[in-house]
Amino acid sequence: MTSDPLVERMRPFGTTIFSEMSALAVRTGAINLGQGFPDTDGPAEMLDAAARALREGANQYPPLPGIPALRQAIAAHDQRFWGLTRDPDSEIVVTAGATEAVAAAILALCEPGDEVVCFEPYYDSYAASIALAGAVRRPVTLRPGHGGRYAFDEGELRAAFGPRTRMVLLNSPHNPTGKVFTRAELDLIAALCQTHETYAVTDEVYEHLVFTDAAEPHVPLASLPGMRERTLRISSAGKTFSCTGWKIGWATGPAPLVSALTRVKQFLTFVNAGPLQPAVAVALGLPDDYFTGFRAGLQARRDRLVTGLAEAGFDVLPSEGTYFVTADITRSGGTDGVDFCRALPERCGVVAVPTQVFYDHQEAGRHLIRFAFCKREEVIDEAAKRLAKLAGR
Ligand code: PMP
Ligand code: GLN
Repeated sequence: MTSDPLVERMRPFGTTIFSEMSALAVRTGAINLGQGFPDTDGPAEMLDAAARALREGANQYPPLPGIPALRQAIAAHDQRFWGLTRDPDSEIVVTAGATEAVAAAILALCEPGDEVVCFEPYYDSYAASIALAGAVRRPVTLRPGHGGRYAFDEGELRAAFGPRTRMVLLNSPHNPTGKVFTRAELDLIAALCQTHETYAVTDEVYEHLVFTDAAEPHVPLASLPGMRERTLRISSAGKTFSCTGWKIGWATGPAPLVSALTRVKQFLTFVNAGPLQPAVAVALGLPDDYFTGFRAGLQARRDRLVTGLAEAGFDVLPSEGTYFVTADITRSGGTDGVDFCRALPERCGVVAVPTQVFYDHQEAGRHLIRFAFCKREEVIDEAAKRLAKLAGR
């Protein structure tokens, strides 16, 4: 017997950076701008509906694909915001967060040795889910270019596709960079998917969190010509409705793809969060004002944090959406983001997340760290005050 009982394919994956940094925040009493979770509750209508469902007996297994009311609400939402028409009975499945949907999609579609084209920095569960499937990741690096805006090299993306490519895994709006992929970028990705006859899996958990000063609006890849039939579109309630602990996500797409994902999903969790499903259905049906208001509040908090970070001496990269903004630590005397973030609570009582852990080519992100601004204004102001110590203020 070897000393480590863990299967070899999971050995490269330690504790997630989010757990490590949140534990550091608790241990040091620092302000946690690391892990992306809001510090205020979501809409009252949603919380009331959850409380009602808990008391009124919705506490047993929901149906495998999710309760009909939630699937209907997802269909209505996708029609209202993105013009995507879905059959609630065959083209939608509710999952245990977007995380399970991504894992089940990869496990359902990839044979061992198949390749998944993704973009780095990538959300950490992608690499682990690809490894669990015995598949191979082919990351294309996003680099800050003109005006600090992240972009990929077209040649690098073309070269990432090959005979074993099974799918593209795309996250836009993108965590951790705050990048919103442009129409031209999406057109190229769509063309490559079609030329190489691959699937696309899109993680759009930040679909409503695109700021008014973004270069372009969010466009689901599934809405582009030729993409509907090959795309699984994934989202989740956590970010849009400030309920990250509820873990209600979903995948939508053509029936054969949704059916394949569901076949795997039924043996991972079967179902989850029964009494919360009707509440998310209520939230998805809220008027447009809720969505624009939440985004506007978040944008104001982004601006507050960006000002604080700049005053603390960081070069701040533009964030067009999500909960996050990236800071370059070079001018603040940092060279390694992991070391910098481990020392930050001691230096000034704030926690951030090093971006380099989300890369295969870690050098590209060594000098970058991520801050979350989905926090109350007074928390952001206090963090900014503490960070100012770094600039000797
Ligand atoms: N994808 C991305 C890009 C994320 O940032 C997150 C974190 N919210 C998730 C997936 C996980 O979503 P969920 O909590 O719904 O599983
Ligand atoms: N999505 C959240 C983030 O990026 C964290 C999720 C997690 O802790 N796994 O910060």
